[in-house]
Amino acid sequence: MISADYCQRPIFKKAAVMAETHYDMIVVGGGIHGAGVAQAAAASGNSVLLLEKSAIGSATSSKSSKLIHGGLRYLESFQFGLVRECLRERALLLRNAPELVKLAPFYIPVYQHTSRRPWKIGLGLQLYRWLGGFNSDSRFRRLTRRQWQSLNGLIQTDLQAVFQYYDAQTDDIALTKAVLQSAQQLGAEVLLPAAFEGAVIHQDQCEIHVAVSGKKRTYTSAVLVNAAGAWVNEILRNCSPRQCPLEVDYVQGTHIVVNEPAKPGVFYLEAPQDQRAVFVMPWKGQCMIGTTETVFHGDAGDVRPLAAEKNYLLDTYNHYFCTARAESDIVSAFAGLRVLPRDSKTPFKRARDTLLLANTQSRPRLISIYGGKLTAYRSTAEKVMQRLRGSMPSRKPRGNTRSLALQPAGQAISGR
Ligand SMILES: Cc1cc2nc3c(=O)[nH]c(=O)nc-3n(C[C@H](O)[C@H](O)[C@H](O)COP(=O)(O)OP(=O)(O)OC[C@H]3O[C@@H](n4cnc5c(N)ncnc54)[C@H](O)[C@@H]3O)c2cc1C
Repeated sequence: MISADYCQRPIFKKAAVMAETHYDMIVVGGGIHGAGVAQAAAASGNSVLLLEKSAIGSATSSKSSKLIHGGLRYLESFQFGLVRECLRERALLLRNAPELVKLAPFYIPVYQHTSRRPWKIGLGLQLYRWLGGFNSDSRFRRLTRRQWQSLNGLIQTDLQAVFQYYDAQTDDIALTKAVLQSAQQLGAEVLLPAAFEGAVIHQDQCEIHVAVSGKKRTYTSAVLVNAAGAWVNEILRNCSPRQCPLEVDYVQGTHIVVNEPAKPGVFYLEAPQDQRAVFVMPWKGQCMIGTTETVFHGDAGDVRPLAAEKNYLLDTYNHYFCTARAESDIVSAFAGLRVLPRDSKTPFKRARDTLLLANTQSRPRLISIYGGKLTAYRSTAEKVMQRLRGSMPSRKPRGNTRSLALQPAGQAISGR
């Protein structure tokens, strides 16, 4: 029996006492992927319990750039499948979550010194439009010189062209909570704070050991989904029999928010130091600047913005805007961890696809999610369900995540 105290349910359903300790699925991690998988499982009619050791969305899913986008820059590394998938998901989110995901104009200025020339950006945007299905949200244009005046302090010396296209912004933690609320409305249960401690993966079910406010509990489930983000391999290390984890690098990304009125859209800039993409985005009335890519060694819980990263972001901002900002203008800063497959390429050039690792090829009991995009959480969850379909009982579906509306969550799910 699970104590109702720990089970966060939607406010309209009064805390009911749960009688079952066996579930079709147990999910570890209350980030966007855990929430998405719980929603997909509950929509399929499966019983599901999600475990979160801290607070919902408190790790990487509240530290992202908060963009719901195809990822224009991934075209440079020929990740066309990822871009198409993300643009498709962007369209679904704009339709299903209009209060949480909003289309915004993006501006790409091209100067004499910019390494990506106007023809290349025009070609990229044309391709982006094609991958986006030529719908009205994938329109783009080159601004006239007169229109440059509306670009809030963008330096115009040596400016050659400015492209405008559209992508979307969200509040990542609010989106995560909304997806989890939808999962709960479909019957998913959430245990919080509840730390996964270990699991024994049997041929026909999983036995899962959890610490709930210092008390040990054991649950069983047909399948276990490891959506623990940067802790993915730590979860695998505590599963028996031992499964070989994927070799990954942890790459931290920092954002700063500066005391500067929000600009009318998102500026997509090329960092002068290394030509990486850096965004200047409106965020709660101010300017958010990000992100960096710094290989991280250490405990995932200890990731913090570094002084060198803050300087890099301020230098990039000051390179492009007339009103220079200093360290004293930083009102907040946060850092999150990317999980990227180990590779000799620089982090910026590495594939950003989500990788799914199953404990066996046929009828897996355990699936681990590596990496991924906030934007593509729903399609990732769909792929997890496809892999696990034969391992769970088939139930009467309660909804389809392609069309389920997402509303901002009420007070039921505790967050930061
Ligand atoms: C800097 C940065 C910028 C990004 N920007 C974007 C963007 O603009 N757009 C986009 O689409 N994607 C973006 N991404 C990618 C996206 O943010 C991530 O892929 C996504 O948030 C990862 O979610 P997750 O659920 O896998 O992990 P997390 O959000 O980290 O969630 C994992 C959860 O598991 C919990 N957990 C861990 N161990 C245990 C345990 N033992 N027991 C119980 N719970 C446990 C943790 O507390 C945590 O809440 C960005 C990523 C980074 C790092």
